[in-house]
Amino acid sequence: MIMSAYQNKVLRIDCTKQETRTEPLNMEFAEKYVGSKGLAIRYMYEDMKPGIDPLGPENNLYLTTGPMTGTPIPCSGKLSVAAKSPATGTMNDCSIGGHAGIRLKFAGYDMVVFEGQMDKPTYIVIEDDKISFHDAADLWGKTSHEAEKALIEEYGTEFSCLSIGPAGENLNNISCINSDYYRQAGRGGIGAVMGSKKIKAILIKGTQGVKVPNIKETTDRILEIFHENCLSEDNEFVFDEGTYAFLEACNDGGILPAHNFSAATDVNWDKYNGAVMKKYRLGKRGCGSCGLGCGNFMKVGDAIVEGPEYETTAASGPQCDIVSIEHNVRFNQVVDDLGMDSISAGVTVAWAMEMAEKGIHDFGVHFGNEEEMIAILYDMAYRRGEGAELADGVKVASEKWGGTDFAMHSKGLEFPQYEPRGSFGMAASYAVSDRGACHMRSYTANEEVFEASCPPYTHEGKGQVLYDLGEFNAIKFSCCLCDLWGTVDYAIMAELLTLITGKEWTEEDMSTVGRRVLNIGRAFNQREGFTREHDTVPERLFKDPLKGGPADGQVMTKEGFQDMLSQY
Ligand code: SF4
Repeated sequence: MIMSAYQNKVLRIDCTKQETRTEPLNMEFAEKYVGSKGLAIRYMYEDMKPGIDPLGPENNLYLTTGPMTGTPIPCSGKLSVAAKSPATGTMNDCSIGGHAGIRLKFAGYDMVVFEGQMDKPTYIVIEDDKISFHDAADLWGKTSHEAEKALIEEYGTEFSCLSIGPAGENLNNISCINSDYYRQAGRGGIGAVMGSKKIKAILIKGTQGVKVPNIKETTDRILEIFHENCLSEDNEFVFDEGTYAFLEACNDGGILPAHNFSAATDVNWDKYNGAVMKKYRLGKRGCGSCGLGCGNFMKVGDAIVEGPEYETTAASGPQCDIVSIEHNVRFNQVVDDLGMDSISAGVTVAWAMEMAEKGIHDFGVHFGNEEEMIAILYDMAYRRGEGAELADGVKVASEKWGGTDFAMHSKGLEFPQYEPRGSFGMAASYAVSDRGACHMRSYTANEEVFEASCPPYTHEGKGQVLYDLGEFNAIKFSCCLCDLWGTVDYAIMAELLTLITGKEWTEEDMSTVGRRVLNIGRAFNQREGFTREHDTVPERLFKDPLKGGPADGQVMTKEGFQDMLSQY
C-alpha cells in the first residue's frame, strides 16, 4: 500500500565510486516500522552482514526521516542517524534536532544511505535531485563549527549542514555529528562512522513539500492537538528551562550523579541552577516544527552554546567536582566544536579523575580542576598524549589501565546522568538498551523518582515498567517525535499517523510497531553475538553504597538486578 506523507524514495550514495542511485521506499517496512528509528534499523538488518567492521566500508550510515517529518505536527523535526556502532558493536541510532531532517524530506527522500568509503576528505551536497561530491581537504582538521561556518557562508542558510570535528576524523569512539552548530547525533561514535567514510560534512537543501490527504482537516486537527496537548501545563517546563529543569528534579530525587557516580546529590547545585542559567541566557531556540523550544541559547565569555543540557551540565560539573556554570558552558562549547559526545566525554574524564585519586594512573586530570579538564578534551579529540588513552571512552581505557569496577558504561556506552542506585530500574534500562547505556529507551527514573508511581529502591515489578516504556519510546522515535513532548500518547500518535498517511492506525498498532522496533534492534544485536550475558552494569552499583541525598546508602544486589532482566 502506498501511504501519503512519505516521499517513497530512498537515496543511496556509494562513497567508494562517488555514484548515487534512488529506489522506492520499501512500503512493507514502512507499514511495519513506520519511519526514522524503526525504518533505519530494519534497513540496517536487511543491508548489512553480521560481523562487519563498524569503521570499514561495509558499515552504512543512514539518515532517516519519518512520515511526520516536514508536516506541522509539533516536535516532529528530528532526524534519525544510524549505523553499527564502533563503541559498542551494536546497532546505534541517534536522534538529531535542528532542520536537517525537514530539509532532507523536502529534498524528496525518506532516507539516505551512505555506503562504502571515499579515499580522501569530501563533503557532499544534496539539493533536491542534484547530488555532488566536493574536495574537503581544506576543511579536514578544522573543528565542526569552523567547517559548518565556512560551508554555510558559501552555500547559504537555506542549507542544513551535518559535520564532524577532529574527534570524528580521528575515528574516536566518543565522537558525534553536529548540525545547525548546536544539535548533535551524539552517541556511540556515530561521528567516527562518518569520519571513516571521509565525509567531513553533508549539506542538505530541499524545495519540495509533503503531501497529506485532506490538508485543511488535517492541519486543523494538528493545531487542535498542538494547543490542547502539546502546549499543556505539563510541558511548560520545556520552554521555561528545557532539560535544565531536570537538574533540580534529579538533585531532589537523589539521582544527580557526582564524583564519577559515587554520590547522588550536589550541595552546591543552587550555584548553577535554573535561576543562574537564566542570567546567562540570550534567548530560546528550537528545532524546525517544534512548538516547545527547549533550547537555551547562552553566552559566557567567548563560549556560545545552545545548552548546556542537563546531561552535559551533570557530566561536566558534579561528576568532576566542578561548581561553575561558566565551566559547564565552556565544556559544552568545546566538545561540540571538537565533535565529541558530551555525556561520554564527561564520564570518561570523571573516571580518569578517579583513577588519579586512587593512585592507579594519572592522566593529568584531577577532581575539581577545570583547566586540566578542558585541556584534555583537545588531546582526546586529536589523540595526543594521555588524551589518546581516553579517546575511545571508559570501556577501552579501563580494559587497558584497570578501574573497570567504576568505569560507568554498558556495552561500551557511557552512562547517562541518572544514578541507578537511586532509581533501580535505570540499571536494567542501561543494561538492556539496544545501543548500550541509554536513557532514551526505558526512562524508569520518571516513574521511580519524578512521578513516584513505583518505588525506586526495589527490583520488583520493574521488568514490565521497562518493557512498556521501551515499547512506547520505540514507536515515538519511529514517528520521529521529540522525547520532550511528554504528554503525547498512543492515541494521539495513531490519530496523527491516520490523518497524514491515509491509512487507519490504532493504539494497538502503535504498541505492536513499538514491540517490533524493540525486537529488530535486539535481533540485530543478537546476530552480532550479543546475549543476555552482555546486559551488564559496572560492579560499583553492587559494591559501593551511594553517598548523600535521599538515596544515601543505597546499593543494589546482583540477584535483584538479574531478576529485573528475567522479568524483562
Ligand atoms: S523540544 Fe527541544 S529537542 Fe525537542 S523538538 Fe523542540 S527544540 Fe527540538
